[in-house]
Amino acid sequence: MKCGRFRDLMMASLDGELTLEDRRQLEEHLEHCPGCRQELEQMKELTDLVGRIELPRPSEEDMMKYWPSVYAKVERGAGWGLLIIGVVIWVGYGVYLFVTDPSVGALVKLLIALPIVGVLMLLISVIRERCIVGRTERYKEVER
Ligand SMILES: [Zn+2]
Repeated sequence: MKCGRFRDLMMASLDGELTLEDRRQLEEHLEHCPGCRQELEQMKELTDLVGRIELPRPSEEDMMKYWPSVYAKVERGAGWGLLIIGVVIWVGYGVYLFVTDPSVGALVKLLIALPIVGVLMLLISVIRERCIVGRTERYKEVER
């Protein structure tokens, strides 16, 4: 038996590169040659194993599920950033106009400044809490 030629055909069949005529000859040979049948089984197992090792790459479907959530997080982060920057600039500008206004007395300035400072402190506290919660949530995701 000239098995060598059929070993090449088996390799080609696993790669899906076999002409109809080659396939017919190979199948005919396999029917009569247990050695080659066993060889082909081993080749298939090896190919499956290699295929399984390469599998952990994320599939396109996973990527489609994964990316929108990343975008959403980035968008939300950017949204919060812009909101905070905007609020800080407007409040700073208002405070600047208010403090430099010579027609307003020092006591009135103090009375109006106190609640503004209070609101700002609350805002900063909420933002810091949000940041800490966000970070622990990320750690939880890693642990899972
Ligand atoms: Zn053979």
